[in-house]
Amino acid sequence: RKVLGIETSCDDTASAIVCENGQILGEHSISQQEVVLRYGGIMPTIARDLHEINIEKVVDKTLQNANLTMNDVDAIAVTTKPGLIMSLMVGTKYAKHLSKKYKKPLLPIHHMEAHALTARLVYKNIQYPFTTFLISGGHCLIAVVHSVNRYSLLGKSIDDAPGEAFDKLARRLKLHNLSKYRSLSGGAVVEDLAKNGNPLAFNIPEPLLQYPNCNFSFSGIKSYVTNIISKEELKFDILGDNILPNADDICASFQYIITKHLCRRLQRALEFVDLKKLLPDKNRILIVSGGAASNNYFRHAFKIICDEVGYKLFVPPPKFCTDNGIMIAWNGIEKLKTNIGIYNYTELDSIYPMSQSELGTDITND
Ligand code: ATP
Ligand code: FE
Repeated sequence: RKVLGIETSCDDTASAIVCENGQILGEHSISQQEVVLRYGGIMPTIARDLHEINIEKVVDKTLQNANLTMNDVDAIAVTTKPGLIMSLMVGTKYAKHLSKKYKKPLLPIHHMEAHALTARLVYKNIQYPFTTFLISGGHCLIAVVHSVNRYSLLGKSIDDAPGEAFDKLARRLKLHNLSKYRSLSGGAVVEDLAKNGNPLAFNIPEPLLQYPNCNFSFSGIKSYVTNIISKEELKFDILGDNILPNADDICASFQYIITKHLCRRLQRALEFVDLKKLLPDKNRILIVSGGAASNNYFRHAFKIICDEVGYKLFVPPPKFCTDNGIMIAWNGIEKLKTNIGIYNYTELDSIYPMSQSELGTDITND
């Protein structure tokens, strides 16, 4: 069986066709990154308009690349939550239209579940249950994945997300003015500059140290580093588009404290899983995904934690970690296989987008 996946939750219009055996038959996506950089962030109405302009093109191109027509597809999977409501609406509407027109079943997909399950396509031998750490532009959470539709939260961000914090820092430091960084995400830019910096140059306080749980916070780091930048700009008399000479030290110190925070909470979460015996020994696996999983500095640090607590670490290649149509199609395959969450083309009225949706209940509170 083959599933067409459609993703429009944020600023990428993406689709892909994936087979039951995990083979990717075709894919295509159009990013809005350039527009996002021009406006200094995502403008929901503009994102919606661009999705509307691109959605048909993206799906047609995907079919073309796969050398298939809609009649060859067995089901359509579409991200319906969580994300920007206006963006989600475009993909959901188009998927419903295709479902009705070609009389194909529709599979509504949770964007974060899709991030979590991609690893099962990339590494064929990952069995449920396992733990997942999702770090992206909109989320930071650790969960136990019991099955395709059952998740237990261990911790999540109480405010912002790491990817977004990286984006904001890149913007505040005006790093996109450097031509080599023009088309990269804020995360990639900060990571690259941090390579030349001293991670201990600035001492940024680690958040939530006094809270013995697995939650995350990034807003404090963001404002602390913003203050540092303002002071440094005064010191170096920086005006206009000029970039601070010690921007690399700032990036390195920022990345260092975020990594430390992520690692401390991750270790606690994995220890909780062990304490409560939530995973059989052979399933001591951690899957890291989401756009910020592309960060190599994070990866190395997570590897150290996993070695320490005896977990096997899997981080899919960046192409699978950032938003894509493949993960949506694959989640559709997982649902088809288990006969979960399949809607007939005659019962589409109950499917609608939602901006917020928890992955599961938090089990660390009791
Ligand atoms: P969500 O999945 O929570 O809805 P999203 O879909 O916008 O959010 P993704 O596409 O999964 O997010 O990830 C994009 C984010 O990943 C951006 O914020 C980007 O800065 C961040 N990112 C990309 N590369 C890196 C990196 N090397 N280091 C840190 N962050 C990175
Ligand atoms: Fe995402």
